[in-house]
Order: sequence, then structure tokens, then C-alpha cells
Amino acid sequence: MTHPTPIDETAIQATLESISHPDSARIRAILEKGLLMKGLELKEVAELSSLSDPELLGELFAAARKVKDEIYGKRLVIFAPLYISNLCANECLYCAFRARNTAIKRRALTQAEIAEETRILIRQGHKRVLLVAGESYPREGFSYVLKSIETVYGVRGEGAGEIRRVNVNVAPLTSDEFKLLKATNIGTYQLFQETYHRNTYKSVHLAGKKADYDWRVTAPDRAMEAGINDIGIGVLFGLCDWRFEILALMQHIRHLEKEFGVGPHTVSVPRLEPAAGSDTAHHPPKPVSDVDFRKIVAILRLAVPYTGIIMSTRETASLRRETFALGVSQISAGSRTNPGGYGDGEQEDRSQFSLGDHRDLDEVVRDVAELGYIPSFCTGCYRLGRTGADFMDLAKPGDIKHHCDPNALSTFEEYLLDYGSPATRAVGEKLITTTLASMEPKQRAISQKLVDQVRAGKRDVLC
Ligand code: SAM
Ligand code: SF4
Repeated sequence: MTHPTPIDETAIQATLESISHPDSARIRAILEKGLLMKGLELKEVAELSSLSDPELLGELFAAARKVKDEIYGKRLVIFAPLYISNLCANECLYCAFRARNTAIKRRALTQAEIAEETRILIRQGHKRVLLVAGESYPREGFSYVLKSIETVYGVRGEGAGEIRRVNVNVAPLTSDEFKLLKATNIGTYQLFQETYHRNTYKSVHLAGKKADYDWRVTAPDRAMEAGINDIGIGVLFGLCDWRFEILALMQHIRHLEKEFGVGPHTVSVPRLEPAAGSDTAHHPPKPVSDVDFRKIVAILRLAVPYTGIIMSTRETASLRRETFALGVSQISAGSRTNPGGYGDGEQEDRSQFSLGDHRDLDEVVRDVAELGYIPSFCTGCYRLGRTGADFMDLAKPGDIKHHCDPNALSTFEEYLLDYGSPATRAVGEKLITTTLASMEPKQRAISQKLVDQVRAGKRDVLC
């Protein structure tokens, strides 16, 4: 089945042009609507994006904080990317992996090397990985990706732990390939449109399959049709005007909701980072300031309250901290963007882009806990079948937190006992105690039971 593009650029431009600076009463009315947690319309998103008054900006951030707190509480889900290959046939001007870039060394990990990288991540305490590759696979073609997923899930029985959820960020697939991907039991299929602006897209994707805007923008439809109902979408901020991009992102989300009854599970907000051999990455055409970046997170939190927001280690530790409160629900930690990077260390001449946060997992976990957030290693929902529309049915009335809070605490306890440094364990145990004390009696009893089971030696306890 072919799909029409879900993006209507004319409507976006018309919306952006129609909003003259809305007055404070109008902005406050939109913020009030946002607090109802039913989402926002395109025009309202455009109006919020135009605000610059410091007082109103403060109110926007306060509203986003409230919604984040109400829906996600203090949980922050943790994952690590696993780069399996930097081979690529495309020419994305902003990426170090692009085909004609001679500034990096190429490497596709063997299955044995992928297993070794997985062991390292498990020993650090990770339970979720995001498998990432350029768009060109070794001789066996796409089955390289399928085998790699199997390899990651297959690493077991070496000390405490295993990877329980593999999410995937690889190039758009055909419908048949998506069905094969679904059969490997992945969590989320993630794909960023990079820019929804067709002419900008054309100017930065010079060759290879990725030059086809429509093939990429319709990939989430094909994935959903193939039965993958946890989809992650995103924009690479810095290529085109961010106001245009978030309106297009909204159109894409509403399109998926309309067609499939459920929108994306997550939205990612990567910003362009310097990359070896890329002028575009060093000099983003439309740079997004830190203030605007925080604004993007806050607006998305109000516009799509039940969609997870992912913040990667592209950003610095201090900016990441600020965005936790504004709406972020998932973060990567201890990341490497070079294939083999967990064994070999960070290597500029193999990496996709530079990182802003170089701390290891234990430091990030401790920092997050010191800020009062519960680092969650939970993989429960998709393993218990709570995905797609089923997940949203629970999430929308707010019921999901009755599962997420206990699961976050029990997986955090697993981390502390099996992998945490003494300093992290001290901070973490204190946080678990105060969190349990602050819960309603029924929730507390469920959570305490799970935490006690973990303390008694059980693992992977879920509710
Ligand atoms: N090759 C596949 C693709 O392009 O969809 C999947 C993996 S690609 C390595 C993952 C993402 O990295 C891209 O979608 C892009 O948004 C991001 N990326 C590429 N270059 C970047 C840069 N210089 N800074 C930040 N993110 C970048
Ligand atoms: Fe290849 Fe993806 Fe990088 Fe483009 S963004 S060059 S497709 S790895």
C-alpha cells in the first residue's frame, strides 16, 4: 500500500504567518488548556512557539513541569545506544557516517563483537538498548540487523542481568522487512525525519535511498501496518526553522493517531552536534538556542502529553538536567556513537557525532537520583503486551503510573544491588525510602512488595 505524505507545508506556513504576537491573555488560555492534558491544536502550538516574554516563558515552563509531574511522576527511563556499524551508502551532509566522508574509519561489528559490546552494557547495568546502524549492511544485507537483534537478546547467563528490550534505529524498510523486524520482538522502531521541510531535506540529503523524502516520511505507516505499534519519531534540530519543524511533527503525530488509533510512543529532539568531516554539523544552518530548545521540550509536553520525550547524550549534563523537569521521560546514559565504542572507548575517527555528556552510567544514575528522579530500568510494558493503543488506553486516564512507579522502584533497586557504586547505592536507597513513604497506601504496598522481592534475590519482578 502506498501512503500519501502526512505533511502539509502550505498549511504550516499559513498557520505560522497567521499568528501575530498573541497577547498574554491568549497565551495563558492556551497554557490552561495544556494543563487539562488533552493536547493542543496546531495553531496553539504555533502561538506558544512565538512567545518570548520572560514572565510568560516562566509560565510555560511551570505548566510543562506540572504535566510532566502528573503523568510521569519522578521516573526517568534509562537506555544506551548500541552502534553496530558505521557503513553507509547515503550522503547526509550533517553526518560523519555519510558515504563519501574519508575522515572516519569504517567498521561493521561481527556478531561476536556485538555480543561482547552487549556483555559490557549488561555489566554496567543496562537493560534497554537502542540498536543503531548506517544504511548499508555487510554482505548478508538487512538480515545483518535481524541477526544482531537476536545476538543482543541471546547474551544471557553471565552474572546478573540481560538486555530485556531492544529498540531499533535503522533506515526505512519495506513492508516485508518491517514484518521480519517485528518478528524479532523489538520494542520501539525509531526513525527521525531529520527535517520535514522538503526543500531543506533535499539540500542536505544528496545521494542514496535517503534522498527520497516520501519513502522516509511514510516509513512509520509501513511499520504500523506491519504490526510494530511502538514507533519513535523525531526531528534533527538545526537544519530548518524549529517552529516549522514542531508544527510538522504535530501533523505527523495527528496523522498516525488518525490512521492507526495511536500516535508515536516517543518523540526525540536531537540537536545537530559537530561531526568529523561535516561543515553542516559544525555550522548548523538554523541553530537552536538553549532557551528555544527548552521551549521545544515544554511545548511538546503540553501538546502531546502522553508521548514520551527522549533526551540523548548529545546535550550537556546541565541542559539535560533542566529538561527533565520540563517533560523528558527517557534518557540515554554512558553512550558511545562509534561501533565497538564500549570496548574500545570513544574514538572521534569512528563516531557519528560528538557527545555533550561523557559521564558513565553510574554517575548519571547518581546525579538523576540526587535530583530526586527515579532512574527506571523497567521494560515491563512491551513485555506484558502494553504497547500501542493498549498502552495509550492505560496512559490517558493516568493508570499507567500504577504499573510504572512500582516497576521503576524495583528495577532501580536491582541496579543498586547488582551494579551501583557505594556512593550511588547510598543516594539511591535513601530516595527509594522517601519515595515509598510519599506514596498512597495501596501503591506503597505494591511497590514495597516488589522492592522486597528484589532485596530477597528475585530479579525481573513486574506488575
Ligand atoms: N542511518 C539511519 C538513519 O539515518 O535513519 C539510522 C541511524 S542514524 C545513525 C541516527 C540519527 O542520528 C539520524 O537519524 C540523525 O538524526 C542523527 N544524526 C546524524 N548526524 C548527527 C549529528 N551531526 N548530530 C546529531 N545527530 C545526528
Ligand atoms: Fe547514513 Fe544515517 Fe548518517 Fe545519513 S544519518 S549518513 S543515513 S548513518
